[in-house]
Amino acid sequence: MSNKLHIGTLCVQAGYEPQNGESRQLPIVQSTTFKYTNAEQMAALFDLDAEGYFYTRLANPTNDHVAAKIAALEGGVGAMLTSSGQAANFYACFNIAQAGDHIVSASGIYGGTFNLLGNTLRKMGIEVTFVDQAASEEELNRAFRPNTKLVFGESLGNPSMRVLDIQKFARIAHAHGVPLIVDNTFPTPVHLRPLEWGADIVTHSTTKYMDGHGVAVGGVIVDGGTFDWEAHHDRFACLTEPDDTYHGLVYTQKFGRKAFIVKATAQLMRDFGSIQSPQNAFYLNLGLQSLHVRMRQHCASAEQIARFLENHEQVAWVTYPSLDSHPDKALADKYLPDGSCGVISFGLKGGREAAMKLIPLLQLATVETHVADCYTCVLHPASHTHRQMTDEQLIAAGAAPDLIRLSIGLEDTEDLLADLEAALAQL
Ligand SMILES: *Cc1c(COP(=O)(O)O)cnc(C)c1O
Repeated sequence: MSNKLHIGTLCVQAGYEPQNGESRQLPIVQSTTFKYTNAEQMAALFDLDAEGYFYTRLANPTNDHVAAKIAALEGGVGAMLTSSGQAANFYACFNIAQAGDHIVSASGIYGGTFNLLGNTLRKMGIEVTFVDQAASEEELNRAFRPNTKLVFGESLGNPSMRVLDIQKFARIAHAHGVPLIVDNTFPTPVHLRPLEWGADIVTHSTTKYMDGHGVAVGGVIVDGGTFDWEAHHDRFACLTEPDDTYHGLVYTQKFGRKAFIVKATAQLMRDFGSIQSPQNAFYLNLGLQSLHVRMRQHCASAEQIARFLENHEQVAWVTYPSLDSHPDKALADKYLPDGSCGVISFGLKGGREAAMKLIPLLQLATVETHVADCYTCVLHPASHTHRQMTDEQLIAAGAAPDLIRLSIGLEDTEDLLADLEAALAQL
């Protein structure tokens, strides 16, 4: 399919092109294994000498069609679905970093990823330095070490709503000979395509807007195919030196621009097995087919509600990328000119206590450990998702103790505004 097509057309049609007489909608290949007539054919698959399917823990046709759609949306050379966003970020990092290595990460990231990088990877022998993404290039340069393998950040932080200066981070990462990995969950490729700004690998929690209906947990890694691993041969020996578990195959030699994503499948999926179920990949595809339409509505509604909150006397602050008061307004104008997402962060003048009082007063916005789907929901990270963090860590992660995260769904804006107005009046 031509990659000159607009994003909405790709949302609907990319990744799966049925032949005559085949099902119009993506078929679900609900099978663990695939049949062959002789052992040589199977052996070629096991040696990565032939393309094909043999066991769904490594790859499945339904998943691959959906991954191809997301690769087309992001402008990458290949993609792999994972069972969750956490698995996607873990695989993306662990694919090129191992015990003894080091990662530089922006600090304003999702709490789950903060734990993954700061605690669990540390236990696996990978050190992480968190940096304030607004820091100067000099300060950022100081975070690098000889064993740094990658830079990580979120294009639009959850729930910090900080906008990553992707070009700046890519420039710094590349100057140190490492790739930039960007979690693009919140804007989705409808509003931002990090590869176009210099990122090398993109990840998503597809659980959020891509699915969009709260039905299936999932993730994806997209390989931009842009990073020159061979130019840093020794640093990325995992890609440029023989893999003994595949008879000495060298990923960069055999797979060229797809080396990273093929290795992620061939090694990490094989050994850790966090594959997305084909059934969930089917649901994800249904979500993707309306992603461009839904993102428009999420943003139009959130924009109106953010302005309402900003003008409300009980509200202390509002963070939404298109507001003039947003600390990263200039970056939002540059990277998110068509809109950002439906998530708003705000704080009440009554602080942490008022936040906890407001939430049960809302009728339409329900309390959920979730964001970014058709249901409007609300969360107080300090007492929910981020409760294991100290106040200091909360502030560093962009989730101040009084922060309320409001995720605007697809209900009518008038009803959501009336709900908020009534709840605020009762405080
Ligand atoms: C939700 C989320 C994740 C984790 O994804 P799961 O699908 O819940 O595992 C990672 N990054 C961001 C930005 C998220 O919002």
